Amino acid sequence: MPVDVMCGMKVKEDTKFVSEFQGKKFYFCCESCKKEFDKNPLKNSR
Ligand SMILES: [Zn+2]
Repeated sequence: MPVDVMCGMKVKEDTKFVSEFQGKKFYFCCESCKKEFDKNPLKNSR
């Protein structure tokens, strides 16, 4: 199960809050986590 890198919550892969960065998919629990990630994906994907 993927983990939301912003808040550490486990997320379902069928969530609509998904970002792709450097060929990797990142899943989020909610829109605000996705937006935060999208502001600075390079930093947040580490
Ligand atoms: Zn989250």
